[in-house]
This record gives sequence, structure tokens and C-alpha cells, in this order.
Amino acid sequence: MFNVLTAEFLHETNTFCQLPTTLASFAERGLLYGSEAIAARQDNNTELAGFLEAGRAYGWHVTHVVSAHAQPGGPVTREAFDTLTAPIIAAARNHDGPLHGILLGLHGAMVPDFCDDGEGELLRRLRAAIGRDIPIGITLDPHANVSRAMCDLADIIVSFKTYPHTDMRVAARHAADVLQRTMAGEIRPVTLRVTRPMLEEANGGRTDTGPMIGRLERARAYEQQPDVFAVSINGAFPNADIAEVGASITVTAQGDLARHAAFASALADDVWACRHDAINQFLTVEQAANRCKAYRPDGRGPIIVADYADNPGGGTYGDSTNLLRALLDAEVQDACFGPMVDPETVQQLQRHAPGDTVHIRLGGKTDPRFGGTPLDLSCTLVSLHPDGNYTGSGAMIGGLQRSWGPLAVVLVGDIEILVVTVRAQMLDLQQFLAFGIDPSRKQVVGLKSMQHFRAAFEPIAGEVIVCDSGALCTVDYAVLPFAKVPRPMFPLDRDIDIAHWLQTHHQGVYIPGPYH
Ligand SMILES: [Zn+2]
Repeated sequence: MFNVLTAEFLHETNTFCQLPTTLASFAERGLLYGSEAIAARQDNNTELAGFLEAGRAYGWHVTHVVSAHAQPGGPVTREAFDTLTAPIIAAARNHDGPLHGILLGLHGAMVPDFCDDGEGELLRRLRAAIGRDIPIGITLDPHANVSRAMCDLADIIVSFKTYPHTDMRVAARHAADVLQRTMAGEIRPVTLRVTRPMLEEANGGRTDTGPMIGRLERARAYEQQPDVFAVSINGAFPNADIAEVGASITVTAQGDLARHAAFASALADDVWACRHDAINQFLTVEQAANRCKAYRPDGRGPIIVADYADNPGGGTYGDSTNLLRALLDAEVQDACFGPMVDPETVQQLQRHAPGDTVHIRLGGKTDPRFGGTPLDLSCTLVSLHPDGNYTGSGAMIGGLQRSWGPLAVVLVGDIEILVVTVRAQMLDLQQFLAFGIDPSRKQVVGLKSMQHFRAAFEPIAGEVIVCDSGALCTVDYAVLPFAKVPRPMFPLDRDIDIAHWLQTHHQGVYIPGPYH
């Protein structure tokens, strides 16, 4: 029987976000240890559920240390990083009896405030404690910026193959199955990486449409070949001003590594060739508002307008006002909008009763250079919800408990607005429904999310449009103060001599060396 240690430690760091990610940020979103984490996450779309499922199938003795998640935001403080990694290292070092393997649910885009590569640093500390022999399998979000250190220090890397991410559990089971074969001595995997000089895949790695569908078919077919255990296509997380940023392909395999690298390079070439082919048409907020104004549902469901640029799931502030301002100016009817992250306004509204007319200064408070200044509005308070708790019902977070913190629903013109305390993106219908707003019955639904919203909202939508409000996840990367990313880098640089880049960057291929 194998003894396996598991942990989840996830953060997607937007290095341009000025809100540090602290221990409190993890406590707010989700920080559970041992059996408490298992109870909360074992039956849902989580990495832990996939690890435990494999543990039951193979008869492992599993020790789960911690499940730590924070809302995407600014760099993780050293205190938070040290506090959350320490019990993982200690559990590995002081394991009762022999430890045969480790499984970690990671994001792959964590940047602490003292180094560029949080996952690499965690793995370095683990290897310092346990040595090189015990196999480590990690799962990543495909919005990972996969570093050479991750490839060096983990043996197995499996990224989710869906965006919206509906296969966390499946990917974790996949990594666990490969770990089982490794612990049994049947295989000896290594993970290689192929990159191109681009901040992200042209469609952020979306898998519901476009070229990723075909690429993933090729990846799955290659995974069926002997000596190949996992192929991952990472769209990357572009809002990270670090040296190792960008789209990548990883292959966890053994045997003829040059052949595996050639396969990954062909996929990477396709990602590069399609770099100009964005599927989303990014409207201005005025264009979006006009489309909403003209929209008639005729029984098809509402028009959904997503603010791509103010996606709190990408580490933005969630208080961009530009889209809401345009919708109010256009006097759209029968609409809802959410979230608007504004704790101050929630506090102010808590001093009133439903039905009151209140003057509020809404949103735009954190950094109005990105996404717009506060809105001076007269609103009617519709309802107050002191805890803001909800339980997800969709494919991504079904059964998981989350919270907006204290929240208020206000009506301005004919738009019901969800004003919340805790940053999060809109990706589940319960985030509206639990607070008395039924988006399926509206004509217009405005929300903050890039892509994850599609899992729950496309089924109720008559039409979906996407706009760029100029907030921190704007697709206009030139406005962000990149300094550390290597150049040239698409799309910061448009005319890149790729043949020269390949020649001077080992063909974009990284194969771990010293241990294998
Ligand atoms: Zn992601």
C-alpha cells in the first residue's frame, strides 16, 4: 500500500494588481486543513476529489495537508506563502512511515512578493526536504505560466483541458493515475516544455470553440501512445510581469524525448500561427450598451454582456464602472448587473432599509485609471444580505459554498445591481439567484468575467457579447507597465522573427536535465 501526501495551494497572481494577497485573502476564499478540507471538497469539481478518488481505487493511505485558495489578485505576501507551504513541507519531512508519492493541486501562475515563481519555490522547498526520489505529480490550471523549475522538480504535470474549467477533478485523477504507475516502478516520467514568445494563446485557451478543440484532440490521441502519460496545452496567464510568462505545451513522458518534443513543437507552432485569430469581438462599452438597448429577447433569453477586462478571476478589482455607466446612459430596460465590488457602499447601504432612496458613489475607487471613475447615483435599495453566502449549482462550482460577503441589491433606472464586498467573478447562476435576481428572466445581463461565465450563462442566453472596459485585464496589453518579460514578446511586439527566436532559444524546447 502506498502512502501519498496531498495538498491544494492555488493562486493566480496579477502582478499589476495593487491588492496584496495575504493570509486573510486565503481565509476569505478558502483555507481548510486536513479532514475539514476533505469534507468540503471531496464530492465536487476539485483536484482533491480526483486525488481521493484515485486513493480509494488504489488503496492508498492518503494524508491531506491543506486546501488553500485565494481570489486572483496581487503578489502573495511572504508571510502567506511561508505559512501555507510550511505544513506541506513539514508533513512530507515528518511523514509517519515511508512516503511514496506527493500530489499537489496548483495553479501555475502564483507570484510571491519575493520571487517570480511560487510553484517552483514550493517544489524547491519540498525537494530540499525529501530529496529527489519520491515522485511528485502536480495539476495546473491551463492559465499557468509553466517554469523550467516546475518541469525540473515535479515528475508529472497535468493541466485541465477545459476552459471554462469543468475538469479539475478529472485532471487530478489523471495525474494520480500516472503517479500510481510511477510509484509502482512501472514508468519513470519526466515533463518537457515547449514555448513560443507570446503572452497567451490568442483566445486565452478557451476550449468551447476555436482551434483548441482540434489541438486537444491531437493531445488526447498522443496520450494514447506508449511512453506518453500526459499532454497539456497552457494558454497562460498574461497579466504577470515575470521572465517565464506565456503559452506552453508540456508533455509528461519517457523514452524518446526528442520525439515528444517534436510533437509538442507542432502544437506550439499552431498556437503561434493562430496568434492573430481572436474569436471574441471586443466591443467598446458604448457599442455593447447599444447592442443591449436594441436587443429583443423574443423568447430566446437575455443578451449577456461580459466585461472581459474587469474579470476579478484575472486579479482585477471588480469595481470598473465603464460598462455600467454605458448601460445606464443607454437606459437599458429590465436588466441586472453584477458584481460591483464596493465594500464602502455596502456598508453605507446597510444603514438603510429596503425601499429607501439612497445617494451612492459606486465603484471606481481602487484604481480609476483602469476601468473608470466612481458613479454618482441615486438608487433604490432593493434588499440587504448580511452574509452574501451561496452554494454553486453549475458545472464549475456545483455544491461548493462561496460568499460575496455582505451585499446589497440596488435598483438604478431599470438595472438591478449586485453590490458586493468580496471580489469574485460571475460564473454561476446562484451568484444572482440566491439574492433574488433571476437572470434568465431579464432582457439584459451585465457581468464581470472573461470566459468562465459561459458554462452557466450560455444555456440561458439569447445572445452573448464581450466588451473591454479598459480595466486591468484589458486586451490592450500595451497600456500595462511590463518591464520584466523578455522581449520580443507577442503582442507587445508585433513583428517577431520567429526563426531567429527559435534559433536563439533552443527551438523553444526545455527538457529537464540533471535528474533524469
Ligand atoms: Zn484558469
